[in-house]
Amino acid sequence: MTDVALKERDPSDVQVGPVDEAARLAREISESRAAESSQETQADYVKRLDQTYGELPAEEFLDVMINQEFSGRIALVSSFGAEAAVLLDLVSRVAPDLPVVFLETGMHFAQTLQYRRQVAEKLGLTNVLDIMPDAEDLKAEDPDNTLWQWDTDKCCNIRKVRPLAKALEPFDAWINGRKQMHGGERVRLPRVEVNGKFIKVNPLARWTRDDVQHAFEESGLPRHPLVEQGYPSIGCWPCTQPASEDDIRSGRWSGSDKTECGIHGKLGM
Ligand code: SF4
Repeated sequence: MTDVALKERDPSDVQVGPVDEAARLAREISESRAAESSQETQADYVKRLDQTYGELPAEEFLDVMINQEFSGRIALVSSFGAEAAVLLDLVSRVAPDLPVVFLETGMHFAQTLQYRRQVAEKLGLTNVLDIMPDAEDLKAEDPDNTLWQWDTDKCCNIRKVRPLAKALEPFDAWINGRKQMHGGERVRLPRVEVNGKFIKVNPLARWTRDDVQHAFEESGLPRHPLVEQGYPSIGCWPCTQPASEDDIRSGRWSGSDKTECGIHGKLGM
């Protein structure tokens, strides 16, 4: 054996040959497969959230979702409609600076715009974002603001769905105020769900009309001015009519088969 062979080898002198390279790649693939198999799927994660936190009161549930599970990665989407102040109030107690997305469709009742300002100010919400439709989309597809008269799906897509998908790009999860008591597709609404690439958080899913009424009274929240005029659910003016308290959403797109605007479909897919 030569003196050279007896010298301790400096690791930096080692040449990586084809056999070493193959071993390294095999190790990397094996490590990556192990990491993948240990990762929760979105569905498993949602199930775990529901099992762990599903029975918490709404305010505590929101606190966990906003300040723990999705810290910095979650927003609230609010219509500032008939029931919205209840959820906005709960959020204001745990995170008054949470981004609150308001879809400013350009078709709201004047009362809604005034209510949006009133509620934000009263609750100290410091990060309400007025999200407008894309100006080029409007120019090309609804230049005279009459699209709602013959194609409500397309109108909602331009004025609500596309702007919301864009506004939510920085986030992984979003909170909304849907409730099972609204009926229709909402009767089996879970508290947490997978929604396209997002996780959607429905803290008030199981709230009843009495729960909502109690929260308004207990917290001294202002009512949307149109509620006393017979509007239990309030969206854009061309597509909202007064309705019965027994079928809250029947005044939305009344006379047509449409029951949802589309933002609760699979955003970001
Ligand atoms: S609710 Fe009516 S006016 Fe508003 S975006 Fe949808 S179709 Fe257009």
